[in-house]
Amino acid sequence: MSNSIALVTGGLGGIGTEISKKLATNGFTVIATTFNKEIENADQWVAEQKAAGFDFIVEEADVTDFAACASMVKRVEETHGPINVLVNCAGITRDGFLKNMDESSWDAVLSTNLDGVYNMTKNVLDYMLSREFGRIINISSVNGQRGQFGQTNYSAAKAGMHGFTMALAQEVARKGITVNSVSPGYIATSMVMAIDESIRNNLISQIPMQRLGEPVEIANTVGFLASSEANYITGANIPVNGGLFTSF
Ligand code: NDP
Repeated sequence: MSNSIALVTGGLGGIGTEISKKLATNGFTVIATTFNKEIENADQWVAEQKAAGFDFIVEEADVTDFAACASMVKRVEETHGPINVLVNCAGITRDGFLKNMDESSWDAVLSTNLDGVYNMTKNVLDYMLSREFGRIINISSVNGQRGQFGQTNYSAAKAGMHGFTMALAQEVARKGITVNSVSPGYIATSMVMAIDESIRNNLISQIPMQRLGEPVEIANTVGFLASSEANYITGANIPVNGGLFTSF
């Protein structure tokens, strides 16, 4: 029970897999969580990662379901050890102009990307407070910082994550817990590769570095924030976007 646990929601996804690998390399026991009911997919992912030298534990919970998050967190704490790092990486898009956006697209994106952060963090927080240590890292988006047409739902949810991050950071700073967000630009995962090629090429042409980011470039930032090297950083948002959006 002396393992230091890093729990990564969406840990089997494009960015989540690289985050899981980075945190494992840095010495954490990684619990990667999935919403995927088809456990064969999770088994296949675990086998692929094992072949690459990584031993991951997969847990299943829908981040939109508070009770499911509560029981998963309890199970992990009791079975595997203390969750010292929580990475809220689960996320979805349901793009469309607001004039055409139905309630289900709004609700799905808000409940997964924003309520999911509350549902997981609220359940992990008491454990972290009792130990007076924790690292909470929320994977937001450049489009939460600058807005993006066709993404009122996603931009609102991802901007909301920043508000959550800044507020909670202040509440728990005295308890040894840091709370930060990472805002990726366009990263080469299935979420972005699903965008029509001509639209994607147009997006790339607007990125000063003229390329998509790599998932490992997000993972490196998360690895840093989870490490003792980032002990004095809290309430921050770290953009990792190739210069697509700059601010101070
Ligand atoms: P993926 O689709 O590859 O991964 C998303 C993960 O979220 C999946 O593994 C999925 O789990 C999980 N998930 C979705 N819904 C739920 C749910 N209800 N409960 C639990 N888990 C759920 O996307 P990416 O790796 O590209 O994105 C990861 C994060 O990075 C997201 O938050 C995204 O918004 C953000 N991001 C991505 C960018 C990009 O360019 N790719 C840019 C900016 C931000 P399952 O294993 O079940 O499929």
